[in-house]
Amino acid sequence: MPYDYIIAGAGLAGLSLAQHLIDSSDRDRSILIVDHDPKERNDRTWSYWSDRPTLFDGVACRTWDQLHLAGLNGELRVPLRRYRYRTIRGSDFYEHARRELAQHPNVTWLHGKVDNIEDGGDAARVIINREAVTGRWVFDSIPRQVMVDDRSHQLKLHFKGWEIETAQPAFDPSAATFLDFRTPQNGATRFFYLLPFDERHALVEYTLFSNRPLLPHEYEQALQIYLRDVLKIDEYHLTRQEGGVIPITDRPYPRRLGGRVMSIGMRGGRLKPSTGFAFMRVQSDSAAIVQSLLKHDQPFEVPEDSARYRLYDSLLLDIMEREPERIQSIFAALFKRNSIEHVLSFLDEQASLTQNVRMFATLPPTPFLQAMARVGISRERAVETA
Ligand SMILES: Cc1cc2nc3c(=O)[nH]c(=O)nc-3n(C[C@H](O)[C@H](O)[C@H](O)COP(=O)(O)OP(=O)(O)OC[C@H]3O[C@@H](n4cnc5c(N)ncnc54)[C@H](O)[C@@H]3O)c2cc1C
Repeated sequence: MPYDYIIAGAGLAGLSLAQHLIDSSDRDRSILIVDHDPKERNDRTWSYWSDRPTLFDGVACRTWDQLHLAGLNGELRVPLRRYRYRTIRGSDFYEHARRELAQHPNVTWLHGKVDNIEDGGDAARVIINREAVTGRWVFDSIPRQVMVDDRSHQLKLHFKGWEIETAQPAFDPSAATFLDFRTPQNGATRFFYLLPFDERHALVEYTLFSNRPLLPHEYEQALQIYLRDVLKIDEYHLTRQEGGVIPITDRPYPRRLGGRVMSIGMRGGRLKPSTGFAFMRVQSDSAAIVQSLLKHDQPFEVPEDSARYRLYDSLLLDIMEREPERIQSIFAALFKRNSIEHVLSFLDEQASLTQNVRMFATLPPTPFLQAMARVGISRERAVETA
């Protein structure tokens, strides 16, 4: 008998989908979850904002009602009004999912490497450690090499985070630092974010969009300099590290990988290219997939990405690629000249066209006009060569 659902990859997208499935009236279907990593390490920390409850709010280790932003032209503290900003430790998320799913005997976990996924008529085959299992529907979140053409933008998003403990109180736990551009840009968009758990403990994360591979000491040096020169912290103890490099592109990711196979998570383009945030997009997508299964007995009836917002992402990636130093003034203007509700609904791709026009009028026009010309030309070429 095939499984009803096979979920390949038990990371953010795989476990979110599994949790949404067991939370629905489809909870009794057989589900196989497969990952080659036991997911026992705290390998990453997810932050997200939301103005409504999500399935995982209870797992968050901190919630803030204010954000802090900083750049070379000053600092800004923004009350979040109806939104909250939350942080979930990867290890808490994986453990929570394991505990919740263990209560459902129809959910099976398999520790193994997915070698291949083969589509079929009534079911797809997933080859795990050279053995085949079949599923009526297969959800694939296994990262693959991204194939881009010369009309798309492609960048790598680097993360390097240090969780530190300081000897003296050093952090203001009432606000999370969302973006801090007080670091030399050196030909790439670079910033820090800081999640203060209390006055002496925080996660400080160095983030940059760059195609150049970095050596470990380059991340470490940037973190050391930021802690010493910007935060003025001399004495600290490193308690944990995290990191990763993920591909970013504005080339649309296909959702239908076969009649029976659907991409989810980063593999399904759920990571917003211009910000690197995926957590809430994965939650909405998981909910939409479950709705589609319940209504249509197939998972593919999910909302399509908005062409308008895809264009905005392309413009921002284009600026990041060609004029990365400009990004900080764009984000400074975005947060300074617009209400937080408008900024977050824009980043959530929920704001209307009229709201978008008003917002773009508050941003420096030149980089967008130049990017528009470049992106427009490359799209025209795409049409000509199609
Ligand atoms: C350090 C870091 C910090 C981040 N912080 C944030 C944040 O604050 N907010 C936010 O919204 N996003 C953040 N992101 C981006 C994004 O949310 C994450 O990358 C997210 O984990 C993507 O989810 P996913 O399910 O697509 O991939 P993953 O969570 O990476 O899951 C893929 C799974 O597939 C498994 N796998 C891979 N190959 C195989 C194979 N052959 N066989 C079996 N299993 C396999 C892996 O072990 C993994 O468990 C961050 C990313 C990183 C790297």
